[in-house]
Amino acid sequence: MNIEELKKSVRNIPDFPIPGIQFKDVTTLFKDAHILRELTDVLYEMYKDKGITKVAGIESRGFIMGPLLAFRLNAGFIPVRKPGKLPAAVYEETYSKEYGEDTIQVHQDAINPGEIILLHDDLLATGGTMAAAVNLIRKFNPQKIYVNFIIELEELKGREVFDSNVQLDSIIKYAV
Ligand code: AMP
Repeated sequence: MNIEELKKSVRNIPDFPIPGIQFKDVTTLFKDAHILRELTDVLYEMYKDKGITKVAGIESRGFIMGPLLAFRLNAGFIPVRKPGKLPAAVYEETYSKEYGEDTIQVHQDAINPGEIILLHDDLLATGGTMAAAVNLIRKFNPQKIYVNFIIELEELKGREVFDSNVQLDSIIKYAV
């Protein structure tokens, strides 16, 4: 299976959740056993030689491929969650969205200094959520941060908000 075939399996839902948004529904990738395996294999090939010690998934669609990939990489998995969900002491990062602000949190004992972290989410739009997650993970002084998305909406230029210390990759790209 090639990337174009993976792309065909993403369901597009026009005007969801609000008019003007072309919502990329990844559940149509995950429900198919063959595609789910293919996706996991593609991700594994991308990161198998990077020395990743932990995969950090962003709530909630980063909680699907994140643990699958962590398992394949023989790495740990840590959740980056919305406020009030994690039970122990947290670090947090607040960031601006189109309307208002949002906060994400991670447990203070989730990462040791010098670890190599792969941050994963389903989709890169403006990059605001993931940029906040990178800032959050930097509090732990990791050796290196990799950032991964299944889907990248290139016209929103989300990758431009990341500096060159972060290696960002996506699997399926939409030009418009
Ligand atoms: P952003 O912070 O703008 O990069 O937004 C990324 C988050 O919003 C991801 O967690 C996505 O799941 C979600 N998201 C934004 N735009 C879309 C879209 N067109 N289709 C599906 N999910 C989206």
